[in-house]
Amino acid sequence: MATATSLQWDNSYARLPEEFFERIAPTALPDPHLVAFSPDAASLLELSEDPIGLLPFLSGNQLFPGTDPIAAVYAGHQFGVWVPRLGDGRAILLGEVVTSQGDRWDIQIKGGGQTRYSRFGDGRAVLRSTIREFLCSEAMTGLGIPTTRALSIVGSPEPVERETLETAATLIRLAPTHVRFGTFQFFASRRRHDLVGTLADHIIGHHFPTWVDAENRYADLLIEASLRTAHLMADWMTVGFAHGVMNTDNMSILGLTLDYGPYGFLDNYDPQHICNHSDDGGRYAFANQPGVGLWNVTRLAESLLGVLSEETAVAAIDRYRPAFEERFLELMGRKLGLTTREDGDGALVARLLALLQEHRVDYTRFFRALSTVKQSSAKAAASVRRFFEEAPTFDDWLSAYGARLQRDGVGDVERRELMNRVNPAYVLRNWLAERAIRSAVDDGDFAEIERLRSLLSDPWTADPANIAYTDSPPEWGRHLIVSCSS
Ligand code: AMP
Ligand code: MG
Repeated sequence: MATATSLQWDNSYARLPEEFFERIAPTALPDPHLVAFSPDAASLLELSEDPIGLLPFLSGNQLFPGTDPIAAVYAGHQFGVWVPRLGDGRAILLGEVVTSQGDRWDIQIKGGGQTRYSRFGDGRAVLRSTIREFLCSEAMTGLGIPTTRALSIVGSPEPVERETLETAATLIRLAPTHVRFGTFQFFASRRRHDLVGTLADHIIGHHFPTWVDAENRYADLLIEASLRTAHLMADWMTVGFAHGVMNTDNMSILGLTLDYGPYGFLDNYDPQHICNHSDDGGRYAFANQPGVGLWNVTRLAESLLGVLSEETAVAAIDRYRPAFEERFLELMGRKLGLTTREDGDGALVARLLALLQEHRVDYTRFFRALSTVKQSSAKAAASVRRFFEEAPTFDDWLSAYGARLQRDGVGDVERRELMNRVNPAYVLRNWLAERAIRSAVDDGDFAEIERLRSLLSDPWTADPANIAYTDSPPEWGRHLIVSCSS
């Protein structure tokens, strides 16, 4: 176990050529106080020190000994528009912690002040947005969906101007790497294919070490990114998660959910749902995500054209759609409690989703309730029937489902258990996040953040004492406006 001063650091990204970053230390954060801490994330680092003792480090006011902080450069397509230079404008990579097991974690401080890449920004993050990122990182982990992690939030009275005056906070983010599609795009767009190769080799060396000497390693990396992105989209689509800002600079080369901004979990099932208030055209609407993932993978492939052939790139891109379809069906089948596959399953899923949309049914609550259906008497299942008023079409679906369950052959009790391990009782609905934010921001009360963190770390076990956390939003929480401002 380690303390702040005994963590082992190896700053390999900071040893890359100087074109990759700016060396810069975080800006001090006045009067810091601890807002939130994830013991689960701390254990990944084997960090045993009391969070209060860590405060000077988590705030960015003191550097962990052994770090070599930098801000990384990248580029990206933002809402489809090419931006030739972006970069860590308010995140600073402190370095990489290496654990006793040899695991490596990139440690970033988000909101740590301005860098060369801040453009017109102040380099800060507001308390509201750090709470959203902290909770969702840990919620996605609980759901088993690949994501960056969050260790801590530190608050400060420092005022920060957004639409209204808010206060500053820093978040410590952990990831195997923070490299994005946009990092590759930056060097490719400057025709620095040598540096595209350097970056690819850096990722391969750390994350796919068995490929290091392989001639086709860049093709393998692209295929891997294509497949992982396809799988991530299937994970998001089946749990009802909308990212909100799927710009290529927010796409992780390792297929992690990255950069939590105006994301949202669906309440009622609505494929057209746009969670980002700034997304006027609905480019990143819920149902568009798999297609956008492919568009982004195609941009990544283009950025690798200096180090691999067009034919290879096309082959990697072509892997995306079947990988998505396969995983989507696999996950939806599991949500329905099916342990076998039949040709008609895709149609069964599609018909159900159309019904959920038509009747504006709460997505998470519906699947949780569906586990109570009995094979023999699907028609009589009042607990799911009540989501649909006067819906003979749903009754038709339910009889088809009942027949399908009989052919699948798993007993009701066993199936219910299986379903409750893939259909969460709790997701981080906007209204739940908003309630935790309001009590933190307005009353300085952080208890609700910890309650949500703990609850969402195991979203499968419905605790009767916390049944209200499974509710659809109350009236005030139905149309919360979440924008890019953070
Ligand atoms: P995002 O939309 O959060 O992915 O950010 C897009 C770009 O804007 C990234 O390069 C960020 O580093 C930068 N950025 C966002 N907010 C700020 C801020 N408050 N100060 C400086 N840069 C920022
Ligand atoms: Mg970003």
